[in-house]
Amino acid sequence: MTRIDDLPVRDELRGKSPYGAPQLDVPVRLNVNESPYPMPEQLVRRIAERVSDAARTLNRYPDRDAVVLRTQLADYLTRTTGHRLGPNQIWAANGSNEILQQLLQAFGGPGRTALGFDPSYSMHPLISRGTGTGWISGPRTAEFDIDTEAAVAAIHEHRPDVVFVCSPNNPTGTAVSPETVLALYEAAQAASGGPGALVVVDEAYAEFSHRPSLLSLIEGRPTLVISRTMSKAFGAAGLRLGYLAADPAVVDAVQLVRLPYHLSAVTQATAHAALEFSDTLLGYVEELKAERDRLVVELRVLGCEVTESDANFVQFGRFADPHDVWQRLLDHGVLVRDNGVPGRLRVTAGTRQENDAFLDAVRAVMKENN
Ligand code: PMP
Repeated sequence: MTRIDDLPVRDELRGKSPYGAPQLDVPVRLNVNESPYPMPEQLVRRIAERVSDAARTLNRYPDRDAVVLRTQLADYLTRTTGHRLGPNQIWAANGSNEILQQLLQAFGGPGRTALGFDPSYSMHPLISRGTGTGWISGPRTAEFDIDTEAAVAAIHEHRPDVVFVCSPNNPTGTAVSPETVLALYEAAQAASGGPGALVVVDEAYAEFSHRPSLLSLIEGRPTLVISRTMSKAFGAAGLRLGYLAADPAVVDAVQLVRLPYHLSAVTQATAHAALEFSDTLLGYVEELKAERDRLVVELRVLGCEVTESDANFVQFGRFADPHDVWQRLLDHGVLVRDNGVPGRLRVTAGTRQENDAFLDAVRAVMKENN
């Protein structure tokens, strides 16, 4: 049998495995920060209508610039953050992973580096590797916050071309203050010694935060980019629709690397329909925020150490052997995530019933431990 390593693949891919959490068929799946709510039936019908319309012209390539969709996304951000944006400041792609990949294709690449603050979203280093961008792991405090002074020092030391700030951060749930983002942005500009470095604020979980979005910071800062997704707050992980907000020049730059017609007409039509239902979908976000806050409280009552969360998931521990706890929760029918953070696991907020099942399983596992 031929294996990957028998092929003439790039050296940096040898011995590596693909990214991905196990997709196991268990009763309670709280491992990949999905929404537990199916799309409402009215929206399903609206999607069917819009996709039917799109189907009539599938003989043609889709709108390569996705103008209608980008206009709607700009309106959504303007409405929910109070910061006015136009479609020329928005770009959309197949999930925010593709957004991040396009950014690294345009602003990273061989001979360039990206810096992030670990533990954070593990696709940041993986997409860097995939685009030939060097990866530098920056520091975080014991409470999983970004220590502004230490972070600024790391930027001055390494002079990266791209800086990733994930807020709220996956997998820890911690949000970053606007003051810290500004300090990192200024350090990145000063350290670059050239036209500046790109600072990418990954706001995949922004809608779940107790704090306002960092979006308004892009004003007057042409190398600050906000990345967003419909996978989490819109409960549409299966849709694959991510987007960015930035200076129009950044939007022009990613168009140099995007594949032509990358966003299918079916995707554009479906996203359009989901955006028409954004108020309904944001109602689910409010329920999930309340459930997330309940998980933090209840896990503490059970004796866990819990990191404050601004996302739709909660990091909890501490366990001598988190993988063993992960397995025993799975034995109770509950799938959570072991992100490899020492002593910790991560649980996504589900429905009230799912969260109760999870808390019962934690209670049982803690009892077995004593
Ligand atoms: N950024 C962060 C921080 C994430 O956690 C995720 C999803 N796990 C993504 C980006 C990518 O999401 P998508 O490609 O579904 O938009």
